[in-house]
Parts: sequence; structure tokens; C-alpha cells
Amino acid sequence: MIDLCTLGTGGSIPMPARALASLYVRCDGHALLVDCGEGTQMQIMKLGWGFRCIEAVLLTHFHADHVSGLPGFLLAQAKANRDQPLDLYGPPGLAHVVSSLRVIAPQLPYEVRCHDLAMEPSPIRVCGLDITAFPLRHSIPCLGYDFRLPRLPRFDPDAARHLQIPVRYWGQLQRGESVEVDGRRVEACLVQGEARTGLHFLYATDTRPSGNIREFGQGADLMILEGMYGDPEKANLAHKNHHMLFREAAECARDAGAGRLLLTHYSTSMEDPEIFLEETRHIFPPTDCALDLSQATLQFDRAPVLNLRPLIPPVIPVES
Ligand SMILES: [Zn+2]
Ligand SMILES: [Zn+2]
Repeated sequence: MIDLCTLGTGGSIPMPARALASLYVRCDGHALLVDCGEGTQMQIMKLGWGFRCIEAVLLTHFHADHVSGLPGFLLAQAKANRDQPLDLYGPPGLAHVVSSLRVIAPQLPYEVRCHDLAMEPSPIRVCGLDITAFPLRHSIPCLGYDFRLPRLPRFDPDAARHLQIPVRYWGQLQRGESVEVDGRRVEACLVQGEARTGLHFLYATDTRPSGNIREFGQGADLMILEGMYGDPEKANLAHKNHHMLFREAAECARDAGAGRLLLTHYSTSMEDPEIFLEETRHIFPPTDCALDLSQATLQFDRAPVLNLRPLIPPVIPVES
């Protein structure tokens, strides 16, 4: 199962009720962030899913609305008694950006490791997820991220019986582990049946429409794409500023055959993005507008469940 939360849905500058870009991804007790706009630490506190379980931050690019929350986030991790290394991923030049931001957060009780990603499709594995970073079309180098949670093939009990493997070993084999039975080694692949589909979602903001979005997003359960402008009359602006219209994001999701589309990264010129939803749904009906702290759950063999306006309990202050 994968839980997602759009911590902030604003682009460029924040609004009183709209924080800047960040996505919280939680999978089997592990977590990561995509982007860390200003105020991300506050949004994590409101959400209540915790700091220390966040093992990595994947940055899309180095515009302020995506990275300026990093020093505060790193300090909040220290406050949460983090002692394990934290991995940061991003476009080339990451180490320079991070060291510059860390001038104001120099001493941390844990290691921060920077991993530059090339501006070409690059596979990484974080939190048990197979992730591919891929280049987008923005004014500076910018990466999208495609996430897949693989699923083991179905367990074949007949094959296990045929190989005379006692039932007490079946659990390990079902988890894909090999076992030792009376001195003989049995590999999990010997008792695996038909392949099963895993989970798949894609995150891409700050870009013009791109073939990479359509290609990597093929058949995704969920796409989270930027909808910088809802008004089709802003097409020239979208082009000039290297962003997408709602309509263009919907076309990407439709062409990729995605299951659902969640829009985010809104211009401050749009007070209520939902007024543009109806016409966007003419292009791709399962489209929704994310709000700050909207949540999505992806589960095997089920359609994604969206909770756009979850009830968030009040923040309990952290003692210093
Ligand atoms: Zn942005
Ligand atoms: Zn940008």
C-alpha cells in the first residue's frame, strides 16, 4: 500500500491557505518527500505522519518554491532526534545548492548525502520503491519522478507440495525469500505462479507537456501533474513560463491511459482551481484538484482512493 499527501499545492509563492510544493510518500513504514517548498515542515506537522520515517527527499529542480523549505526541514529532523543518514536526490548541482542552504543549518546530528541525478532517465530505489527520474521541459533542468511498487508473483501451493516443502516454509517463500529444506536450497521462483501487477504513480510539475510524462506514465494508477493555469486563455503565459495548463495535463494523463489525475502547483492568479475542473474533465474525466493535505491511497487490485479534504487534527506543539 502507498499513501500520498500533497503537503503544498502552490507554485511560485505561497498564499495564506496554500503552501508551496511538496509531496509526502509513505510505503510500508518508510517515507520520502518530493520537493520541499517553504513551510513544508509546518505541513508535515499538520499531517502528523512524522519526520523521522522520511529517509529521502527527491528534488525536482532548484527554484525557490521547491527547495526553500529544506533548511527548516533538516532542522526539524534534528529536533525529531534523527540519527540515521538522510538521502537527497536532484538534478546536477545538488551538492552546491544544499551546501548553500545549509549555511543556515550547518550542524546536524545526522549525515546528509547528496546524489546528483543525470538529465536522462535514471533508476533509483528508495523506500522499497523502484523510481525513475526523468527530464522535463522547464526553464532550468527539472526532473519528474515515476514510482513503482513491484508485487511478487502469486504463490503456487501445488508447486510447493510437489517439491515436498513443509507448510512452515511457505510464508518465507511467499515473501520471495529462498529457504533451506533438509539441506537443500529452494529458491522462491520455483514456487511462484502468474505475475501480478504492482502499483504505479507519477509526479511531474514545472514543465511543458512532454513525451516523457506520457511514456513513463503509461497505465499509471495515478498521475500527479502540475496545473499552473486553469484558464485556457493563459496558453501564451504557460508557454512563456514553461508551465502547463489544466487542459494540457489532462491530455498527458489521457494519452498515457492513466487511472486518475490529480492537479497541483497552482498559480496565485487562481483562487479557486476547481472552477476549471468541469471543462478539464471533458478531456480526462477522472481529474481532481489537489488541495493542501489532500491524500491518496494506492492498494493492490483496487482503484486509487482519494480523500481531497481529510479532517486533520490540530497540531500538538513539539517540546523543545
Ligand atoms: Zn514551481
Ligand atoms: Zn520551477
